[in-house]
Amino acid sequence: MAEFNIALIKGDGIGPEIVNGAVTVLDAVAKKFNHTFSYTDVLMGGCAIDATGVPLPQETIDICKKSDSVLLGAVGGPKWDSQPPANRPEKGLLGIRKALGLYSNLRPSILKPQLKAASPLKDEKLENGLDIMVVRELTGGIYFGKRERAEDGSWASDEERYSVEEVKRIGKIAFETAMLRNKKLVSVDKANVLESSRLWRKTITEMSAEYPEVTLTYMYVDNAAMQLAINPAQFDVIVTSNIFGDILSDLSSAIAGSIGMLPSASLGASKCGMYEPIHGSAPDIAGMDIANPIATIVSAAMMLEMSFGLIEEAKAINAAVDKVLDMDYRTTDIMSDGMKKVGCKEMAQLIADNI
Ligand code: NAD
Repeated sequence: MAEFNIALIKGDGIGPEIVNGAVTVLDAVAKKFNHTFSYTDVLMGGCAIDATGVPLPQETIDICKKSDSVLLGAVGGPKWDSQPPANRPEKGLLGIRKALGLYSNLRPSILKPQLKAASPLKDEKLENGLDIMVVRELTGGIYFGKRERAEDGSWASDEERYSVEEVKRIGKIAFETAMLRNKKLVSVDKANVLESSRLWRKTITEMSAEYPEVTLTYMYVDNAAMQLAINPAQFDVIVTSNIFGDILSDLSSAIAGSIGMLPSASLGASKCGMYEPIHGSAPDIAGMDIANPIATIVSAAMMLEMSFGLIEEAKAINAAVDKVLDMDYRTTDIMSDGMKKVGCKEMAQLIADNI
């Protein structure tokens, strides 16, 4: 029997629906394995702007820091698009990652055999399956670099900057992740053009001596995007910068079927991580009970495994997801002929019932 405190950032749009779905499943896990999960709701994003005037209230940071981990839905939406750049919902996201020191983002893209029809790729490209882990640097690079804009509006710039230390700490996670998988690591950069990429590549190359079992190769980001589309099975682990990882992980998730299926884990030096689906707040379907909660539910499974060490419990969630898909239940985004369509709430309940 174990006890864990989980901070819930439900956020905006479909955020509350999908996080509630994950809580239904976590409660089923707690009951079956005799654990206690306590939840504290905190505000971030558009809902925080409405309630407090800022996207990331100090109270949210304090509660997240005291928690064993954070489960996040998604933030943002058209309602807050006119906010000044410094007060947009997404500022909350960048701020909480920085405040919790979450410098690495792990995004697995796995094509489940049941969902082959949902992938936009032709069957022959998926013959060898798809199981890619994108390791994205999360608190450096251009998203956190110096921003400038001419007073007369005639130019603007964003700085891409990496230190050796920043590359080393994400590199360590990538090499260690590769060691636990098929020992193939591709470092993605734009070293033919960017100085920061040349530093990235040199640092990763130097680190490879410590991991002789890992086969390290390099790809320019433009080629990596093309290779993901034409031969995704060649990839095992990809390590890359904040912006390249943002783009490539969305691409690898699309290949795996639906953005509504894929989880992510953001980790730093401590055990406390932040777990969230890779998709956004989907304002177009918010409040309609049609969102797919599986990405958030399997993000909760990653939390149990990576932050709480509850391996069997995480496996139970993943097995329940597979079982419900095998029973042909589908949300709208992964629906195909002959399947049984269910809403967000019902999908979560079905998974909880199969724990
Ligand atoms: P999005 O991921 O929210 O939606 C893209 C498309 O995928 C939409 O058609 C949406 O309906 C669909 N979709 C997303 N999640 C789904 C799910 N679980 N089930 C079924 N369909 C799903 O991306 P967007 O439209 O570019 O962004 C919407 C808002 O979300 C914006 O304000 C953006 O800034 C924000 N956003 C937040 C995060 C985050 O909180 N981590 C990430 C990305 C975007």
